[in-house]
Amino acid sequence: MSEYVKDLIAEVRGKNPAEPEFHQAVQEVAESLALVFERHPEYRAARILERIIEPERLIMFRVPWVDEQGDIHVNRGYRIEMNSAIGPYKGGLRFHPSVTLGILKFLAFEQVFKNSLTTLPMGGGKGGSDFDPKGKSDLKIMRFCQAFMSELFRHIGPDTDVPAGDIGVGGREIGYLFGQYKKLRNEFTGVLTGKGLNWGGSLIRPEATGYGAVYFAGEMLGTRGKTLEQKVCLVSGSGNVAQYTIEKLNQLGGKVVTVSDSNGYIYDGEGISPEKLSYVMELKNVRRGRIQEYATKYKNAVYTALDGKLDYNPLWDHKADCAFPSATQNEITGKDAANLVRNGVICVSEGANMPTTPEGVRVFLESRILYGPGKAANAGGVAVSGLEMSQNSMRLPWLRDEVDNRLRLIMKSIHHTCVEMADRFGTPGNYVNGANIGGFLKVADAMMDQGVV
Ligand code: NAP
Repeated sequence: MSEYVKDLIAEVRGKNPAEPEFHQAVQEVAESLALVFERHPEYRAARILERIIEPERLIMFRVPWVDEQGDIHVNRGYRIEMNSAIGPYKGGLRFHPSVTLGILKFLAFEQVFKNSLTTLPMGGGKGGSDFDPKGKSDLKIMRFCQAFMSELFRHIGPDTDVPAGDIGVGGREIGYLFGQYKKLRNEFTGVLTGKGLNWGGSLIRPEATGYGAVYFAGEMLGTRGKTLEQKVCLVSGSGNVAQYTIEKLNQLGGKVVTVSDSNGYIYDGEGISPEKLSYVMELKNVRRGRIQEYATKYKNAVYTALDGKLDYNPLWDHKADCAFPSATQNEITGKDAANLVRNGVICVSEGANMPTTPEGVRVFLESRILYGPGKAANAGGVAVSGLEMSQNSMRLPWLRDEVDNRLRLIMKSIHHTCVEMADRFGTPGNYVNGANIGGFLKVADAMMDQGVV
């Protein structure tokens, strides 16, 4: 690690204590950018990275709400407006009990680079709450969303900050949030993305992150003359990203053998067919049940409960060709990464944000497998959110094929940028450096143009 990176990380830790995920995300980017600063001292002199690390604005607020029994609850809400050099702040909202300021800052930081890679004019942001939607009635969810938006509405807008969904925030939550925004502002604008199709949403938005991660894997495999056909794939999670990753893999001839939630995972050696995927979608999106039920319905499948005492996750310890982590951050440790490589995995495309620990990333890079980091591989979601914003501005919806083609082209372009930047800065095949550098340069040049603001 260069002296510059060491000093920078020490400063970040000192200024932002108790935010380990944020330190982790900054360190990875800073290590890649050391290559850029050697050739371009002007970025260092302008302290561009130091400025990107500091959020432009950080909003924290109380979310008090009353449930149907009349009990009062108090949650904490956040919006991190990280960087607006190339467009309005853009990034999801996460509702999960594990949400802290540090987690959202890591996500907002990553989002700046990801959004830049998409080729669309979007700055970076992220937000959410420690509210846990799991097992709650629709009424409770609505009341919480309304209380959350009662503060957030004054900070966001279609040209200022445009939130979307993330863990725990799907179509239902976006609907309640949008309804409250519209009531408070008395205007119908594209202030949120991931909206319902008949009130401003875009076709392909629900599918976009999963489809995009699969398109990115296809591009990576293409560099070695391979395709996804007949590839055995491991997928984690069973939410939005996991579901559409499985759907696209099935369409392209792959075979998915795992799916999971926060309690455990399913191994189905026969493959999760389209019919079985429909069952998972109904289970997770409608009945909101646990993935364990899959093994009751399909007897050949094996359910393994999560064992906190293990220092690895057995989901990542099956023979396979490709892996699509699609649940949450740091779900692949160094040991999991070693298991994946030993079991024959040649391609990892990250649907989740930062699902691999730094030790795991080292294993992937040293073994020279095709490793697509989240900020590149899962950028399809925010890319189609950007396309939803375009359609809202034009007040004209595009056809499914048009959006899907644009998504495919954007993923191809992100892949090209990663490969080109990795080559240009002397680390061919390193998608981590390629994504970090490619995402940085566009934002950095915009910040240089706009002066010290
Ligand atoms: P989601 O629909 O809420 O699904 C999340 C899935 O991950 C669920 O199966 C959940 O299990 C599991 N999970 C969550 N926290 C976990 C934990 N601590 N340990 C193990 N499993 C956990 O969310 P999503 O939208 O699919 O997001 C998944 C990942 O993709 C996140 O990292 C998110 O930031 C990233 N991402 C999402 C988008 C998007 O467009 N949605 C775009 C880019 C990146 P339970 O059901 O048990 O909670």
